[in-house]
Amino acid sequence: MIVVLFGPPGSGKGTQSIRVARHLRVPHVATGDMLRAEVARGSALGREAEPLMSTGRLVPDDLIVRMIGARINEPDAAGGALLDGFPRTVPQAKALDAMLGARSLRVDVVVSLRVDDDELRRRVLDRAKIEGRADDTPEAFEQRLRTYGVETAPVLDYYRGMGTRIVEVDGVGEIENITRRITVAIAASGTVVPAK
Ligand code: AMP
Repeated sequence: MIVVLFGPPGSGKGTQSIRVARHLRVPHVATGDMLRAEVARGSALGREAEPLMSTGRLVPDDLIVRMIGARINEPDAAGGALLDGFPRTVPQAKALDAMLGARSLRVDVVVSLRVDDDELRRRVLDRAKIEGRADDTPEAFEQRLRTYGVETAPVLDYYRGMGTRIVEVDGVGEIENITRRITVAIAASGTVVPAK
C-alpha cells in the first residue's frame, strides 16, 4: 500500500509518519531526511539542495523524482511505503503516478494533516530551539509556508481530481491521539492494510 502523508511545514508530518509507518509495517520514506543526509555527506545533490532547503525553497522536481524512484524500487518497499514530504508539486505527483503505474500500483490514500498557521509558527519556533534546523528560522519558515500554499497545496486538488482517497485529520493535540486519528481514518477509508 502506498500512503502519502501530507501537511504544511510544522504540522507534525515527520513525527506522525514514523509512527504510522511502524503501525502499517511499511518503510517510512522522507525526502527531507534523504536530502539532509545528502547535505551531510556533501554529495553533488546535497550541495545543490542545501541553499534551496535553508531558504525554504523546493529542490528541482527532476532530482527529487530520480531520488524517490530509486528508493521505492528497493526491496523493502515492495509491499508499499509511507511517503513523507513527497510529492510536493503537481509534476512530482504525476511522476509518482507514472512510476507506480509501471508496477500496477497507485497511491491508496492521502492523509492530510490540518494545523492552522499560527499554531505552525509557534511549533516551528519551539522546534528551532531544540533541533536547530537551518530552515526553522522565522524567515525560512515564512518562505516554506508560502511555498506550501503555492506549489504543494495544489497536489491535494490533483489527487481530488484523480478520485484518490483523501482523509483529513486534525493535527492538533497529543501525539498519540493524532496517530490514532490517522490510523483509524486510514482503516475507515477502506484501504487494505497488508497482513504480515
Ligand atoms: P521536510 O523535512 O519535508 O520539511 O523538507 C525540508 C526541505 O527539503 C524542504 O523545505 C525542501 O527544500 C526540501 N524538500 C523535501 N522534500 C522535497 C520535495 N518532495 N520536493 C522538493 N523539495 C523537497
